[in-house]
Amino acid sequence: MRIHLKTLGCRLNEAELETWSRGFQALGHELTQELNSADLVVVNSCAVTGEAVRKSRKLIRRAQRNNPTAKLVVSGCYASLDPADSSGIDLIVNNRDKDQLVEIVSKQLNLHAMPEMATEPGENSLLARGRQRAFIKVQDGCRYRCTFCVVTLARGEERSRPAAEIINEINLLHTGGVLEVVLTGVHIGGYGSDMGSSLFQLIQTILEKTQIPRIRLGSVEPWDLPENFWSLFENRRLMPHLHLPLQSGADSVLHRMARRCSSTDFQQLVEQARQQLPDFCVTTDIMVGFPGETEDEWQQTLALVEQIGFSHLHIFSYSPRPGTKAAELPGQVNRAVQKERSQALYALGQQLKRVNQQANLGAELPVLIESKANTEGAALWGGYTPNFLRVAVQAPAGLALENQIRQVRLDALSEAGDHILATLL
Ligand code: SF4
Repeated sequence: MRIHLKTLGCRLNEAELETWSRGFQALGHELTQELNSADLVVVNSCAVTGEAVRKSRKLIRRAQRNNPTAKLVVSGCYASLDPADSSGIDLIVNNRDKDQLVEIVSKQLNLHAMPEMATEPGENSLLARGRQRAFIKVQDGCRYRCTFCVVTLARGEERSRPAAEIINEINLLHTGGVLEVVLTGVHIGGYGSDMGSSLFQLIQTILEKTQIPRIRLGSVEPWDLPENFWSLFENRRLMPHLHLPLQSGADSVLHRMARRCSSTDFQQLVEQARQQLPDFCVTTDIMVGFPGETEDEWQQTLALVEQIGFSHLHIFSYSPRPGTKAAELPGQVNRAVQKERSQALYALGQQLKRVNQQANLGAELPVLIESKANTEGAALWGGYTPNFLRVAVQAPAGLALENQIRQVRLDALSEAGDHILATLL
């Protein structure tokens, strides 16, 4: 069968899509980028915001309209939270079963396996699709109940993948040419809570039992990290970059969000990281306009963001999610105020990014070259440094650099401000 897979939302959804791609290929099915010519369409939906739900519905409708004869399978948070909305869908796979999606779909939709057509293990669709960093699902679910969060409702309790399975997947990807993996989950700090292990132990095991040159951590909630966590970064294969969602800089808002980390705890965590590695990169999520957010609370957030000096900000406007406590809270902030605050934060974020880029000029760092950034004239290749700086590397025309780790010198800020110009050493 020709199978079209599409995902919305988080890196975890991406990681699941990668696993399904390999699963279907191993059964001899062919992947297609073309929705209209597929025999089977699989959608991994998202419900993190009202906008994400709207996009999930739109994607499902488009699949039904553009390819009515194809079988349609929908999984993910939107389908798990709102399975009633299933008209025209052949099969809904709930989040709790999505790790067995390939088997469930094969059985329930009677897919005919053709092992003789199967791709070799390690033959990597990721690189074939121009992607160099592989997202690896290490756990699912979360025991916490932040009052704005619908993910914890859609994905259920914490479940960790056995370390041996994760090691095997990383080694298979590395054999297939992948040089960087990103460990992802819903609450990866909770890894091992259901099996007497921990994220610390998992990372140690990955460093011992794999040779892959670059391991990056996906989003990590700023708690549940052991004291000695930072010592792991002495191994330079573990990228000195953490995405630590702060959400708000005001303790009164953090309390209404039921976050397990105060503004002081957060600052101390970042200081610990920077003591370990001066060039440690910290990025974050900030939620704008949480119910009841006063001007004073907002100013506290701006002040803390500036004080910490994040390298990059992901800015989200709060949107009430059905079933969450925050949706019932008084003092919902109006869109105009949310917009104004988001714009102010975006401007601050750009400023801080520039300061951080400036501080790294002159450094000589290894970059995983991902793709060619231009077609005309001297070649310009895009990629990331270990501390997650986006760079454009100038290289002689005709040199093939895709998916290589090369040493570069960071020379100058780009005019656009979104990357640094670097020279191949
Ligand atoms: S810790 Fe993260 S995933 Fe868990 S409830 Fe809070 S925001 Fe949601």
